[in-house]
Amino acid sequence: MWVVPEHEIAGLMTPEAAFDAVEAVFAAMARGDARNFPVVREALGHEDALYGFKGGFDGAGMTLGLKAGGYWPNNQKHGLINHQSTVFLFDPDTGRVSAAVGGNLLTALRTAAASAVSSKYLAPEGARVLGMIGAGHQSAFQMRAAVRFGQFEKVVGWNPHPAMLSRLADTAAELGLPFEAVDLPQLGADADVIITITSAFEPLLLDGHVTGPTHIAAMGTDTKGKQELDPALVARARLFTDEVAQSVSIGEFQHASAQKTVSADDITALGQVIIGNHPGRGDAQVTIFDGTGVGLQDLAVASAVVELAKQHGKAIQVAI
Ligand code: NAD
Repeated sequence: MWVVPEHEIAGLMTPEAAFDAVEAVFAAMARGDARNFPVVREALGHEDALYGFKGGFDGAGMTLGLKAGGYWPNNQKHGLINHQSTVFLFDPDTGRVSAAVGGNLLTALRTAAASAVSSKYLAPEGARVLGMIGAGHQSAFQMRAAVRFGQFEKVVGWNPHPAMLSRLADTAAELGLPFEAVDLPQLGADADVIITITSAFEPLLLDGHVTGPTHIAAMGTDTKGKQELDPALVARARLFTDEVAQSVSIGEFQHASAQKTVSADDITALGQVIIGNHPGRGDAQVTIFDGTGVGLQDLAVASAVVELAKQHGKAIQVAI
């Protein structure tokens, strides 16, 4: 099997490769060529950690495997980031393990790529102001991908913990864009595209905050009980997701679904827009992409990085 260590990923994987891999796998899911397996995600009762597995099989890309890992909120004391994961790939013809790939940076890149893909297909025309809600580790990757694949001229941001806002200011400066810390009503009024990427368990962005034509990429909610958006905002928006079953169970739309203001039939897989089966934004005032994070995204970027690592002599071969 091939091993691609975490420390090699940054030098191998590009945002473009992540964007292409995620867009392609969403399309494969929509065509019925690829499917995700049921997610296992458990609170360990130790270190407040959430641990689980996300897997799937892409019969078009011939990628089989899983990502194992989760979220350890106290990892700072170990000098580690809170997300820890590893992707394992298997040979679909034999079942033999074929690769183990560090999943931490890949998770950030594939999550940021998913929201950027959603903006490509759903952002209102002429989107120039990016709104960021969340200033943790993932937020910098989200902003970088949004700016790389969009045409933003300004970033506005808000975070429940204001001391963390410097990350957004620093990332905007790195990207050469002006940044303004604002309150939520101003963010909702000014931003054409809003990315939410927090660990919130109650709504932050309320229906009344969002006034113009807006696309919202809701990326933080990936577990039962988490929530970033007002269900009333969800109820009036046109709804998209990576995978409908995850969206109504562990994603942002779990709440509107539980309140029965939204049903699974109201939610469109983004892949359907990518392959031309759904018009996308249409005349909607507000669109929301519920990025729950699917295993196939992880497998797609891991598979791409294994090929890059082999080409660049960075993959380590071990017998198992
Ligand atoms: P982080 O720990 O570095 O930052 C946490 C962020 O959430 C900060 O903005 C913080 O201010 C905010 N926050 C923390 N506790 C909160 C609370 N109780 N209420 C409201 N806000 C709170 O985390 P990160 O690595 O930036 O990840 C952010 C979120 O994104 C996590 O919840 C993570 O599970 C999720 N995530 C989702 C995907 C996906 O595919 N959808 C992928 C990766 C991460």
